[in-house]
Amino acid sequence: MKLVNIISISLCWLMIACSAKSESQQATNEEPEAMKPRIEFNADSAYRNVKAQVDCGTRVPGTEGHSKCAKLLVNELKRYGADSVIEQKTTVTAFNGDKLPINNIMGRFNKDAKRRVLLLAHWDTRPWADEDPDESRRKQPIPGANDGGSGVGVLLEVARCLQIEKPAIGVDILFVDAEDYGESQGQSENSWCLGTQYWVTKHPYTVENMPIYGILLDIVGGLDARFHREIASHQLAGSIVDKVWGTASMSGYGNVFINQIGGAVMDDHVYVNQLGIPCIDIIENQNSQTGSFPPTWHTHADNMSNISRTSLKAVGQVVLNVIYNEK
Ligand SMILES: [Zn+2]
Repeated sequence: MKLVNIISISLCWLMIACSAKSESQQATNEEPEAMKPRIEFNADSAYRNVKAQVDCGTRVPGTEGHSKCAKLLVNELKRYGADSVIEQKTTVTAFNGDKLPINNIMGRFNKDAKRRVLLLAHWDTRPWADEDPDESRRKQPIPGANDGGSGVGVLLEVARCLQIEKPAIGVDILFVDAEDYGESQGQSENSWCLGTQYWVTKHPYTVENMPIYGILLDIVGGLDARFHREIASHQLAGSIVDKVWGTASMSGYGNVFINQIGGAVMDDHVYVNQLGIPCIDIIENQNSQTGSFPPTWHTHADNMSNISRTSLKAVGQVVLNVIYNEK
């Protein structure tokens, strides 16, 4: 994903917002009450899920690590009791002409429920460490522990919890591919999120069982991470941001989910919104050192030593509490 300039995006996102479903913009002003989790999210388990992906090697489409990890994700979703696991394989062309064999993987829980929520994260990793301080290593792929691994690791632990207690609604966990093969310089914003761009044309929903909203997790495992209201989420799905940040506050994570506007990110949620599903992005994009993504972003330091169980726990527990709160 990349940070985008607010001025350059506001016009096109305004157009998207106009064509998307209208949403209630109710903000809750009530005093937060303590929310007791129905199921405890296990941070060690989420951490192990991140490590298992990193141990596959880099998950750049077409590499051995990529196919190894695809098998791992399919097996884990099955092991955690998904009613069905869909593998959506195709070949897409990247901005530089590379042909990428991609695989969007979706596990469906409580498959027949019409009222559903979509949870997603990208599982591929960036082929270049183009932000690394060492220029000589910028053409090498990154480990992608946080950028790629963390969102998937949290959602696999969510899947394990769903098996322990079935939620009242249906939940679809989607791992999208080829998010991070985009062009960092230049204006080709559609060069990112190739897996999601394909998925929105081939999604499995009908009008009846379209998810009521979506939550994207990206870069959620950094040290001392704080999550602000990402601008596209705020503009396109503000009521869902209110719901998630409100739940965070009631769950005791108001110090992690900061109720202030953050930067704007071109990420998978933008395309999901275009489909008509209000979708937000939980992403660290106001890091205290950098003012944007964490310092490990698109560098070789995006490894397990910079993954925090505390951050994984905060995000995972809030997502679980949101899910179990739905009727
Ligand atoms: Zn990235």
